[in-house]
Amino acid sequence: MDQTPAAPARPPRAERPNAPPTPPATPSGLPEGDGAPALWTTQDSADLYHVAAWGEGYVEVNDKGHVAVRPDPTQDVAIDLADVVDEIVAKGLKLPAVVRFQDLLATRVRLLNEAFQTAIAESGYTGGYTGVYPVKVNQLREVVDEIVEAGKPYGFGLECGSKAELVATLPRLESDETLLLVNGYKDEAMLRLIGTFQRLGKRVLPICEKASELREILRLADEAGQRARFGVRVKLSTVADGPWATSSGDLSKFGVPLPDLVEAVDGLVAEGRMDALRLLHFHLGSQIGDVQALKSAVKEIARIYAHLIKRGLEVEFLDVGGGLGVNYDAHPFGGARSGGVDYSTQEYANAIVYAVQEVCDQEGVPHPRIVSENGRAITAHHSVLVLDTLGAMTKPGVADDYEPEPGAHEIVRLLHSFRQATAAARGLGELLEVYHDTLEQRKKAEDLFGYGYLPLDQKALAERLFWTVCRGIQARVHAADPDWLPAEFDALDDALVDQVLCDFSVFQSLMDHWALGQRFPIMPLQRLGEAPGLRCRLVDITCDSDGKVARFISPDGNKRSLELHETAEGETYRLGVFLVGAYQDILGDAHNLLGGVGEAHVYVDTDEPGGYFLEEMLPGTTVEQMLATVQYFPSDLQQRVQAILREKAKQGVIRPREAQEVLKQYRAFFPASTYLEG
Ligand code: PLP
Repeated sequence: MDQTPAAPARPPRAERPNAPPTPPATPSGLPEGDGAPALWTTQDSADLYHVAAWGEGYVEVNDKGHVAVRPDPTQDVAIDLADVVDEIVAKGLKLPAVVRFQDLLATRVRLLNEAFQTAIAESGYTGGYTGVYPVKVNQLREVVDEIVEAGKPYGFGLECGSKAELVATLPRLESDETLLLVNGYKDEAMLRLIGTFQRLGKRVLPICEKASELREILRLADEAGQRARFGVRVKLSTVADGPWATSSGDLSKFGVPLPDLVEAVDGLVAEGRMDALRLLHFHLGSQIGDVQALKSAVKEIARIYAHLIKRGLEVEFLDVGGGLGVNYDAHPFGGARSGGVDYSTQEYANAIVYAVQEVCDQEGVPHPRIVSENGRAITAHHSVLVLDTLGAMTKPGVADDYEPEPGAHEIVRLLHSFRQATAAARGLGELLEVYHDTLEQRKKAEDLFGYGYLPLDQKALAERLFWTVCRGIQARVHAADPDWLPAEFDALDDALVDQVLCDFSVFQSLMDHWALGQRFPIMPLQRLGEAPGLRCRLVDITCDSDGKVARFISPDGNKRSLELHETAEGETYRLGVFLVGAYQDILGDAHNLLGGVGEAHVYVDTDEPGGYFLEEMLPGTTVEQMLATVQYFPSDLQQRVQAILREKAKQGVIRPREAQEVLKQYRAFFPASTYLEG
């Protein structure tokens, strides 16, 4: 009898994130007919990998069973990503590589600006809107070029937060109208340079992070004989949720606390410097999951703004920071719970515009120009990290027709008998009993081997049988489709997940996955017309057990394996990691000296076959370049190898000609990729 305790109803199989793929696979709900497996369609793959939710219409599965990208919704072009990757590899770019769909940057800039234009037109808001792109999200010159160009019709500006970013962004101020905001801590030299550009008539504003910086700006302006112009980041009491929540509230390391702001304003009023404070700013943190937190923060800063206006200050801008989230989620509007957002870009703009308007109208003050600093929402979608898989590491098993030899150890015979017991078990309770007995025999095998009573070949056989029995139990458990699963079987699902080795480094390419557990949408680029038969976690080539991806997007945010296809020996099977255009390019580190990956820049071109044009390919970092970052240089390294070879030649281990060959073999690594070849 099945003793399964009463428990909350289980979600249907399709929503159970860690269940094994079910043959015959029918997630689209197609009837199975007369027992023949239902046909797997490309739509089934799109559903399985939740493409509609995170792809937002930019990503789809095409009739060839490949991933396709639509970078520009105004043009009817879906670029086959698998074909693009074949082309870049054929042209010599080594994977892993980031494929950038440059038009998607312009698409996102347009979307954001048009959302604010719509909100402003519908509400009758009179203050206007200026967006700035925070370059820290992705400083690559081509990315910034594209955003600046796309932003021109909207008067889009830039934001920077460090000395190097300031140096990179100041030359972008070709027009006197372009706004450049300088956040973060600044030294005297930076403040002086900003002051110089202000004197030239440029709209560059330092944003004070603390009250002492404000006094420093006033002093330097007096020294230079010019009017001080700056903004202030305010430490609000509203706090957001999610991994980046400490950017706001009491725990934030940024922002001027309200008492300090009030004191500073008293000083400005007393000294008649009403025109110095031009901008009020807050930043709740990146990836705001819940739009209500944003509305509260906007209302809080708008009240402060109204107060300052009533005191006679000439505050021009209300800067609501970044935080417009990206849907890294299996639901279109899942919210922070599972790594997504619960609002659209239009709702984000509406929330800000209407909240500022409401407060200003109540207080009877003019509407300020709204500024937002959105980076993630502009850059995330445009790049895809493409990886080569290097084969699955599956649990060993025995053949279906395996029978123990007459002299087989008792443990081996027992484990073999559990295969039949699994097939004969009636209900979850009996399966659980077989599983417990299987675990007991495995433990016994380990103990006996440790004491020297179980030969190595019998231990290996016991191991194979253990996994074979486990797989049988798992298949029966999921075929029974119970409403509730004992914790042991959940753990068994995890234990039976295969590991797929991928040629990349989590630390170099998916830093936020390692550091914050952020999930990214991942799916195969090809074979999407076929049902995947494996459940896998991805492991990278670093010598670090943290170098893995074992969390995937799913409706409940708790999926621990990804469905992939079984591959034949030598088959090319590539994965795409999506939404990696924000932060990941720049956060990557050089763990194990695995370097920056290659890049390909793709533009829509309807006159070209495939609808695209490959503008540029940039190789990844070479071994020589990586070594130089830690002070190893080819000449010294080669001399040392030569010394070893001379010694070996002297000892007669190799001939001098062979020594030359070895040196050549060693030298060939310097210009090579830091990733694996072939
Ligand atoms: N502005 C400031 C001050 C930030 O610190 C950040 C990043 O956290 C941003 C803007 C960009 O935020 P997001 O990428 O969420 O738009």
